[in-house]
Amino acid sequence: MAREDESMPEYDAVIVGAGPNGLAAAITLARAGARALVLEGQATLGGGMRSQALTLPGFTHDVCSTVLPLAVASPFFRTLPLERLGVRWATPEIQAAHPLDGEPAALVRRSVAQTAAALGRDAGAYRRLMNPLVRGHRAILDQFLRPLPIPRHPLMMAYFGAMALLPASALARLAFRGERARAVFAGMAAHAIQPLDHAITASFGLVLGLLCHAVGWPLVVGGSQGLADALAKVTRELGGEIATGRMVAAWSDLPSARAYLFDTSPRTLLRLAGERIPAGYWRQLERYRYGPGVFKLDYALGAPIPWRDPAVAHAGTVHLGGALDEIRAAESDVWRGRHPERPFVLLVQPTVVDPSRAPAGRHTAWAYCHVPHGSTQDMTSPIEAQIERFAPGFRDVILARSARHALDMEAYNPNYVGGDINGGVQDLRQLFTRPAVRLDPYRVPARMAGNARLYLCSSSTPPGGGVHGLCGYFAARSALRRL
Ligand SMILES: Cc1cc2nc3c(=O)[nH]c(=O)nc-3n(C[C@H](O)[C@H](O)[C@H](O)COP(=O)(O)OP(=O)(O)OC[C@H]3O[C@@H](n4cnc5c(N)ncnc54)[C@H](O)[C@@H]3O)c2cc1C
Repeated sequence: MAREDESMPEYDAVIVGAGPNGLAAAITLARAGARALVLEGQATLGGGMRSQALTLPGFTHDVCSTVLPLAVASPFFRTLPLERLGVRWATPEIQAAHPLDGEPAALVRRSVAQTAAALGRDAGAYRRLMNPLVRGHRAILDQFLRPLPIPRHPLMMAYFGAMALLPASALARLAFRGERARAVFAGMAAHAIQPLDHAITASFGLVLGLLCHAVGWPLVVGGSQGLADALAKVTRELGGEIATGRMVAAWSDLPSARAYLFDTSPRTLLRLAGERIPAGYWRQLERYRYGPGVFKLDYALGAPIPWRDPAVAHAGTVHLGGALDEIRAAESDVWRGRHPERPFVLLVQPTVVDPSRAPAGRHTAWAYCHVPHGSTQDMTSPIEAQIERFAPGFRDVILARSARHALDMEAYNPNYVGGDINGGVQDLRQLFTRPAVRLDPYRVPARMAGNARLYLCSSSTPPGGGVHGLCGYFAARSALRRL
């Protein structure tokens, strides 16, 4: 793809946005010999993988993503020499803990048998549910983490799909008799950010559960920024260019290229590409649905969180929301535009596995809850009440906190429309066919000078939210077919 004369475009591909998907697209293009340039609006690269000193000197916080099982499981990231480039994974002894009122917390460990053993009368049911999925995890992930739901592993997918299509609340009740196991499943499924009685929410519970057992729920030592920096190094080693502090506010900010890949929301794409997008596709993107937002807190702590059940202190992730019905009510409230009094809280204790993130003897914590789309409500008190419920005295160990409501999240990163961290609702209609129903979901039909092509490569394309780089990889493959 050598430049033959001065009338040729400056680049084969310009990528807008240096999140995991933008960088994955750049790497895929540069590997194939394309001249690729990444333009990142912020002063630092990484998108949802940035780490910053949000509270006190000496404390490092992941501004967005922190627990990265999808990165470890990603078939694309597995092709990269991440360890050589400094990425060190830290996997906790307990992947996720689910504290419950008046009884010991349920603990999800790498071992299915050990996890099941602590689930009382549902021990057998948990083993029967999880063991076949863990054995077939490669096939399931291969299917789940790609654009089209054409069954590549028909038997395993028939087995998995029959359960995955269900609402999480229905599968929890069908599979388990006791509240303990049901609560654990609800905590996993609530990552879907929609009511647990919506179809396909069970798939989130199943996939996140099997990731706990198959690969673990690891963090990057030093912060997720380490993964972003490694991806940037690979890009540059392959000859790709990255420019930060280059917010693309208008089409004229873009150098000439044969292909443009947008690691942005469909909304930003519409704003930038304007009348180049034909009316039919424009309407489809306008109808694209963004989901609820998040309210996020980061803490500098003077001591570990004083969990009532001391086992929770060994968990990386803690799901705070009690029983299935409570989590279900909280997620339904959010969907209907209400702020739950008792929100479902996702909390991570990075210093359990990575003491480098705080001065000696000090700790960090990362927590968020779901809130209605576009919310500006301060959820600090409800979140801290949920933590105190299972860790009395938590407020006494707080040295400093940083808080962001849903619209702060959008101001921080325009991809989080209304605070939606998944780049759009991930329900039956939008999980595999995002942002619109098309054979190639990455390709954007557009009327462009010089036959240049447009692509969307953010988490608003399949396979959706999370740090895996696969939206960028598949979009770049689509672009390469035409370069
Ligand atoms: C609070 C929070 C917690 C999360 N936790 C996890 C987790 O634990 N594990 C996990 O796997 N995922 C998690 N996620 C989700 C994950 O971060 C995202 O799904 C992922 O980062 C999406 O990657 P992306 O490349 O599509 O977009 P992004 O990571 O959002 O990157 C997009 C980049 O494009 C830039 N950009 C946008 N518009 C322009 C423009 N016009 N010009 C130039 N640059 C532009 C932005 O500045 C940004 O750097 C979390 C997200 C949040 C917010």
